[in-house]
Parts: sequence; C-alpha cells; structure tokens
Amino acid sequence: MIRRALDAGVTGAVLAAGDPEKVDAMVQVAREHGCAWMIGLHPWWADSPLADSLLERLEEEPLPHGLGECGLDYVRARDPHARERQIAALRRQLAIAVEREIPVALHCVRAWHDLYAELRVFKVRGLIHAWTGSAQQTREVLRLGLHVSVGPDVLRSSRARAGLAEVPLERLLLESDAPDRPVPGAEQGEPAHVSIVASAVAQSRGESVSTVLSVTGDNARRLLDYSSSWASS
Ligand SMILES: [Zn+2]
Repeated sequence: MIRRALDAGVTGAVLAAGDPEKVDAMVQVAREHGCAWMIGLHPWWADSPLADSLLERLEEEPLPHGLGECGLDYVRARDPHARERQIAALRRQLAIAVEREIPVALHCVRAWHDLYAELRVFKVRGLIHAWTGSAQQTREVLRLGLHVSVGPDVLRSSRARAGLAEVPLERLLLESDAPDRPVPGAEQGEPAHVSIVASAVAQSRGESVSTVLSVTGDNARRLLDYSSSWASS
C-alpha cells in the first residue's frame, strides 16, 4: 500500500484511532511504517466498555501528534441520551487538548450545530476530517482556526466542492479516510487514493496536482508536528 501511495505522489500518512480495541495495533503499524498517529475516543464508541479506560489513558499518555478521532456523530446516536454521552466524551477530550496544547482530529456527522457550540467554548487547534459541509459551515470552521480535511466524499458531493472553494490552500488537508471511504470504483480505501482526491481538488481550484499534494503534505506535517516521509525512508 505504501509503495502504491508513493507511486501516486503521496509521501506520508497520519493514522487516527477508531475502534478502541485496535488502538495499540494501529500505533504499532504507525511506528513500524513511519506514519504519524493520533489516539482518541471516536464517537461511535462513546458507549463502549473500553471508553472510560481509553479516556483515562488519553490524560496520561504522550500524544505527540495530537488527539483523535473525537467528535459527534448523530446518525449513530439518535436518542438524546446517546448524544449526551458523545458530548460528555468530546468535552473531556477537548479539555485535554486545550490543557496540553495538542491538535485534535474531529469527526462530525449531522452534528455541526452542536460541535460548533463546543468548539466556541474549547479553543482547540486541529482539523475537521472528511469534511463535506456547506460554504457557510466551512466559513465557520475556518473562523475557529481549524484546518479542513477532505477525502473521497468530495468526488461525490457538489455541496462539498462548493465548500472547498472557501478554504485557503494553507488550511487544506487531504485524506483517504481508508479503509472506510473508497473512491468510486474501488472496493476499499487506501492512501494512494489521496492522489485522486488531490486531482479533484486541483481541478476545482485551478492549481496543479503536485502543488496541492506538496502544500497539503506540508500543512499536515506542520499542524501535527511530524517530519517522517515515506519518500526519504
Ligand atoms: Zn471519522
């Protein structure tokens, strides 16, 4: 996968936590293969029996590249109690990020109104990932000082492409969201697909693909404080 990514002009990756049971395996893969990583309690697992121990771990463990994924997902949490538990887990993580001055990777599905309210209280830096928000919502993200990370969904959503036009290149990041969001025609996502996202972004902004790839790579390394590159290893 890394070879295919390098062939496509993708020089590094950040792995962010999903399933708490797989966090240790993810960190091991990141260390072995020169990726940055982030650990957090993803909102899908706010009710997991592992949630409390993971939140405690976040308070103690060094998080050299930041905390994530964390956030709100109201498609997964339909009743008010489940949403309250997601919000409680999010607040605890945002407080850690503020106190330790580390970046966050935010996950947001159908919950921007509530997430925006939290982010106006907890002044974090970081990124919102797989972003497909409207132009208005994108302006709100930018006003908070966050970076906007876009993935394969921009290939499908004209609303997302309209929002993208609002984002200055120095605030933009690209992602595959692998393995969850394959590009059209692929069975599973993988890092090489970032180059397909880059092509769509470059076309919609009138930039070259190589400029979009190199600037967004620099943005990620600066934001998440990592220097490793597959190209140099
Ligand atoms: Zn996510």
